[in-house]
Parts: sequence; structure tokens; C-alpha cells
Amino acid sequence: MHFSTPISQIPNIGPSYQKKLNKLKIKTVGDLLFHFPIRYEDFSKKNSVSSIYHKGKYVVIGEITEISSGKTVHRRFSFTQVKIKDSTGEIPVIWFNQPYLAKSFKEGEKLLLSGNVDYSKEGLQFINPFYERLSRGLSFDDKIVPVYPETEGVSSKWLRFIIKPLLSNIESRIEETLPSEVVKKQKLFSLPQALREIHFPTSFASVKKAQERISFERIFLLQLSLLKEKINLAEKGGIPIFTDIEKIQDLVSNLPFTLTSGQKKAAWQILKDMEKKIPMNRLLEGDVGSGKTIVAVIAALVAIKAGYQVAFMAPTEVLARQHFDEVAKLLWRFKIDVGLLTGKKDKLRSKKLKGDILEISREKLIEKSKKGDIDFLVGTHALIQEKVRFKNLALVVLDEQHRFGVEQRAKLCVKKDSAIPHLLSMTATPIPRTLTLTIYGDLSLSVITEMPKERKKIITKLISPKKRKDVYEFIKKELRAGRQAFFICPRIEEGEEKENSPWKNLISVDKETEKLQKEIFPEFRVKSLHGKMKSTEKEKVMKDFKNKKTDILVSTSVVEVGIDIKNASVMVIEGVEMFGLAQLHQFRGRVGRGEFQSYCFLFTTSTSEKIRKRLKALLTSRSGFELAEKDLEIRGPGDFLGKRQWGFPDFTMNALRDRALIEKAREIAKKTLSEDPYLKKTPSLQKRVDSLRQKLHLE
Ligand code: ADP
Ligand code: MG
Repeated sequence: MHFSTPISQIPNIGPSYQKKLNKLKIKTVGDLLFHFPIRYEDFSKKNSVSSIYHKGKYVVIGEITEISSGKTVHRRFSFTQVKIKDSTGEIPVIWFNQPYLAKSFKEGEKLLLSGNVDYSKEGLQFINPFYERLSRGLSFDDKIVPVYPETEGVSSKWLRFIIKPLLSNIESRIEETLPSEVVKKQKLFSLPQALREIHFPTSFASVKKAQERISFERIFLLQLSLLKEKINLAEKGGIPIFTDIEKIQDLVSNLPFTLTSGQKKAAWQILKDMEKKIPMNRLLEGDVGSGKTIVAVIAALVAIKAGYQVAFMAPTEVLARQHFDEVAKLLWRFKIDVGLLTGKKDKLRSKKLKGDILEISREKLIEKSKKGDIDFLVGTHALIQEKVRFKNLALVVLDEQHRFGVEQRAKLCVKKDSAIPHLLSMTATPIPRTLTLTIYGDLSLSVITEMPKERKKIITKLISPKKRKDVYEFIKKELRAGRQAFFICPRIEEGEEKENSPWKNLISVDKETEKLQKEIFPEFRVKSLHGKMKSTEKEKVMKDFKNKKTDILVSTSVVEVGIDIKNASVMVIEGVEMFGLAQLHQFRGRVGRGEFQSYCFLFTTSTSEKIRKRLKALLTSRSGFELAEKDLEIRGPGDFLGKRQWGFPDFTMNALRDRALIEKAREIAKKTLSEDPYLKKTPSLQKRVDSLRQKLHLE
């Protein structure tokens, strides 16, 4: 049996278990062996029955002597009762509300019990203890017993029973994946040893070593694949584009503002990258409102004037539309054809149209893109569809890149019919520096550190329910002065939530709009916006808000990223506990984008300490960078990065912060590649790196 052997060939795994395991994405022996316990039960100190003479926690091994079951006096609970006997005595055990136990136990069967003993009518007795049958994958010598993540129908016991035989003489059946001198030099467990210890540990110290080994391997593979990707890009070659300084000057000198030095520096770095034969892979970090869009537009103008096409992808339809309007306006003087592809109400602004904006069918737009008749295509996820093609795509811009999955990012860059385009990703929610090396390797980074000069600090306040009225009065003053306000609600409509649902008492867009219009702000114009509205409606609502035909916009998180309304000065967020820190910071960034002093008011009914801590971070930090670091600290790398996307176990996610470990892994990966760039000497390593690379392509 090898790593790649399908689970259907493992004895004792029938079709129904295969289905259950498939749901956990376990398809092969390898997947099963890499399905790790989340914790361990400590059975190392076992007690004899005679040593139990007052209440407490105990571990006992014994034989079942009597089994009975019934209902409690008040007929409320069913119970199963057994007696357990070891060589020193006998003790009663009771489980409530697990009636099936009575049927599944047999007299004479050996059980291991771990749990609370307390006084009862029967004297001292175990109450609802954790139990194990010794016949099933567990022996008398097991001291530390693995507990796997709880999943419907796949118990820890069953997993141990299946995994144990797979580990016997595992050395002869699986290959070491790390270069042997690395294992030796780093004093790591071998892979078979690590797998055995992680599933059936001999001590807690060895669990730790096993986890270290697994983490090291994952991180080493990640570094290898990042480095290989770099070599790969360099070999494939990109499209060198030379900078037309005059065009840039023409664009920049006609802007209503002057660029900050951070913007200039970033633009310069990007243009230098694009002149190279190697495809650019650069991340532009800059806080909300720092002016990243114009930097991307400068790069786009250069690429287009050199005769190429540019694709610009945004995470939401609302944002894509805004970019389209902005870009079409900015680039119009340069006679550039700009298209908007969202799948709904697609648009075109073409030089042949004398600047008018034309609605156009998606098919026509795609056709034009393919023929090279569109220079600049703005869009949503719709851009990565198979059908969308380009004639000579040379630059891809990903706005708010953290909102895209790794695969989505990759797809846009590997459109079959074009050479590898330069990639510019942009984000206001950076991965904290402690993690960048791990995740990006040494991806090129440009950072805009300053804000445009005239910006004022946004005043952020957490408002207690008593002060709600005062806040409303304050907002009225702002509105009367001609400003506008956003109200963010965590959900669209009231539904039939269950009693204990966290959504139960949260304010909805529908209700809030009605309340604000009728009761609080009758003299102002209140409109709502959410993702489930039709595109035409959404577009109209946004347009009216932009043109000051509406004073208050009540919305869900659809306005989270990018939306740019300079006249808005108030952001109210209801149910703040439902949003992440980065998200809240993005909401806040919707105001304070013009010359006006702006305010962000936070409402919550939650009293949770963790949430308070999170909000405090928002109140005290000004920049998204600082917040990202704090968020990472509070949530840990697993939640911060999203575990699913990485597929790493928790202990490896935590190891991602270990700078020394990462650097070590990276150094060794570099050395490995310098000696054997194509990993020809280690085909199994090559295979694993390739499969990881496909997942992380061009991250
Ligand atoms: P973000 O970095 O959040 O994407 P945007 O690119 O949307 O920010 O820019 C925010 C606003 O600031 C826009 O209205 C833009 O026109 C304006 N802006 C960009 N650069 C400058 C600057 N150097 N000075 C003043 N305003 C600027
Ligand atoms: Mg933006």
C-alpha cells in the first residue's frame, strides 16, 4: 500500500465510509495518513478501582460485569449503567441519554474509562465518562490517545482502528520526501517516524517533534514551489514594455491633484518591472484611500500605448462599475477603448463612439476583446471565464487581491492564447510582514506609506446604546451641511432565525432603511443597496448617491471595498461584531476620502471580551498595516489567512509565524534548487512541488 493507493483498497472501508471520507477530501492512503489528530487524551496515569475514594477525575481499565438501562424517576432521561471491574474492585458507571450504549456493550468486554467520578445513590460512580473499547485500535499500553476532528459518522475510534495497520512497517512502503541530509542536519524525524508518532505517540515530546517535522516539510515545499515559480517565469519570458514618459506626464499633469511621493515611487517601480523580459509579479500595498487606482492606470496607459491590452479585475460589480467610469474618464483623451465586463449590463466606451458610453452584449464585448478591439477591459470574476480571450494581453491588474482566491488569480494570467502578462496586485489589507516571506517568498513589493496631504484623520467612536440619539442628531447636522452618510447593516432582511442564532437580533438593511426614513431622518432621502438587487437598480442607487440625489445609503457589505464618494463624511456600522477587523477598516475607508472631516460610528450589542479587544484595536490604530498585525495577533494565522485555502493543519498554520523556521526552510530550498534546478534527482519531491505549484500559481 502506497500513499497513492485509493482508500477503497484498504480493508474495512466499505462504500459508505468511502463516501464519508470523500467528504473530508480523503481519497488515498496518503490523505488518510495526513489527516491529523487535533488533540490527545492522556491515559498515561491509570488508576486502580480501589484507589478511588473521593470524587475527581480518573482513568480506569476494567471489564464490564453488569449492564442495565432505563429511565430516570422523572422519566426525563434515559440512562445506561454498567459495572466495571478490575483486579482491585468494582465501580458503577452511568451514561445519560445514550440509550444505544446498552445494546452495544457486552459483558466481559474491556473498557478504558476517563472522566469524572462523583457521589451518587450507588456510592462513587463514573458519570458520562469518555470510554474506549480496548479491542478497537487501542491497547493496554496506549498512553496518549489521538482525538481527530469531530465529523459526522467518522469517529476517532474508527480512524485509529483504520490507521493503525497502515502504519505497520511503513518505512518499507513510503519514501522520505525531504532530502536526507536535511533530515539529518535539522535533526528531524523521518517521515514514517513522524507519521507514526503523530497518530500513535509514545510521548508528548514526540508529538511535538512529529508536528515540527510535518510543518517543516510543508513550509519547505511551499518555499520550493515559490522559488521554482520564479525560475519558471524567468524562463518563459514576458513582454518587455518601454515607458513612454510623455504620455505619463500628459496624464499626470491633467489630474486634479499631484501624486504623492509614494505613488510616484510605486509607479516607477512598476514601470521598471514592465521593461524587463521577465513577467512582473508585484504587489502594491497602500492603505484605504492612499490612491492605488491611479498608479495602476499609469501602468495601464503605458502598456496600451505600446500596443497591448490590459485587464483590470475587481471583486464586486459595484466596484468594477466605478473603476470603469473612472478609467473611461481618465483615459478618454488618449483615445483608448474601455470595456466593462460583469456579465450584467456590459458596457463599452470607444473612440469611434466619440466618448459616448454604449451598452453592449457580452458576446460582442468578448468578440472585441479577442480581436484586440478593446484596449482596457475592466470586470469582475466574469473576466476569468474560459470564453474571455485577448489578442495581446500584457498587463493584469487585480484590485483588492485579498478578495480573490489563489486559483482565480492564476486563471487570469494563464489565458492560453497570450504570453504571460505582467501582474500587478493591489491591496489595502496586507498580509503582515511576519507572514509575507512565508507566503509570497520574495515577491516584489511596493508600498505607498503616506496619504494625500489634505486628508484628515477619521474620528472613530464606539457608541453606547444611550448615545444613539445624540449620534443621529450629529448626523443631521452633517447632512444639513451638505454631506452624505453610509449606514452598514450585517444583513439584508429579517428572517426566521433560530432562537440562538447570532443573527437573531441584528439590524437588517430593509428594516433600517424604513426606520431611518420614517422615524429618524424624514427630511432626508434614504436609499438602500445590497447584493441581491438587480444590476440596473444597484447602478441607479450608486449613481444617485454619487450625484448627491440621496443623502443616506443603507447597505450591506457590498460597499466594503473601493467605493469612492468624496462627499460622504459619516459611516455608521451596526452589528460591528459580525465583521472582521480588516473589513471594518475598509468600511471606515469609505469616508474621509475628500477634504471633509469624517466620522465612523460603531454600534454593538455584544459584550464579549474578544470583540471589545478587536474594536479597541480599530479605535486606536489608524493604518490597515497596524490593524493587520493586531488582527493576526488576536486571531492567529489560521483564521487570519483562512485555513481552507492552505489546507495546512493548525500546528503548521501556527508555525507560519516562526521566522527562523521559515528562513531555514527557504535557505535549504534555495540550496536544493541550485544543485538540482528541476529536481530530477528527487522525482517524488518534484511531483509534490508541482502539485502545490498548481494550487499556488502566481500567488
Ligand atoms: P485606494 O488606494 O483605496 O484604491 P483610490 O485609488 O480609490 O484609493 O483613491 C482614493 C481617492 O483619492 C480617489 O478619489 C482619488 O482620485 C484620490 N487621490 C488619489 N491620489 C491622490 C493624491 N495624490 N492627492 C489627492 N487625492 C488623490
Ligand atoms: Mg481601491
